[in-house]
Amino acid sequence: MTSRPTIGVLALQGDVREHAACLERAGARAVPVRRPTELPGLDGLVVPGGESTTIDRLSRLFGLHGPIRAAIAGGLPVYGSCAGMIQLADRILDGHPEQQTFGGIDMTVRRNAFGRQVDSFEADLEMRGLEDGGRAYPGVFIRAPRVESVGRDVEVLATVPGDRTGGTSGGVGTPVAVRQGALLATAFHPEVTGDDRVHRLFVAMVTG
Ligand code: GLN
Repeated sequence: MTSRPTIGVLALQGDVREHAACLERAGARAVPVRRPTELPGLDGLVVPGGESTTIDRLSRLFGLHGPIRAAIAGGLPVYGSCAGMIQLADRILDGHPEQQTFGGIDMTVRRNAFGRQVDSFEADLEMRGLEDGGRAYPGVFIRAPRVESVGRDVEVLATVPGDRTGGTSGGVGTPVAVRQGALLATAFHPEVTGDDRVHRLFVAMVTG
């Protein structure tokens, strides 16, 4: 791979342009992905936030679901934000009855779990793995999924306090950024903050 990896952004719906801009600033070449033929040759893939039911439906309609699952199984680095986190979860709660995910991360996430009254919120996060790690990362949560449980092989990179979410994790906090092997997922939206450190982490995972 060259020092400037090519990273696809799943361009079915959601924050596609914003992720592409962050990836370019983080040193990658960003390309939109709408068809299975656009997957080979990618060094990594971003699944943006948006609406997971729509991303799921369109990915199956466009024949991308199976090829993306296969690419994940083959070790392609993938980063999913918000709806993209849902798409990377092995198990989802409160999904549409027909809803499927790409899977890959051994976790259970509950859709829209922060509730309607707190549709959106911001939280300063301590996130492991970022450059300049002493500086908080501005987490922007928009109808975010809540990680309800993670398997042994999942590394939790950031949490919010349990009482923020009403979750069951008590004092341990609720994971909002996780990594399993070549897969990275955040419940929040780094593409709207102007702070590219999460994308830089993903680019580093890709160039690894
Ligand atoms: N609530 C959305 C879903 O279930 C995710 C929201 C987002 O990506 N901002 O897909």
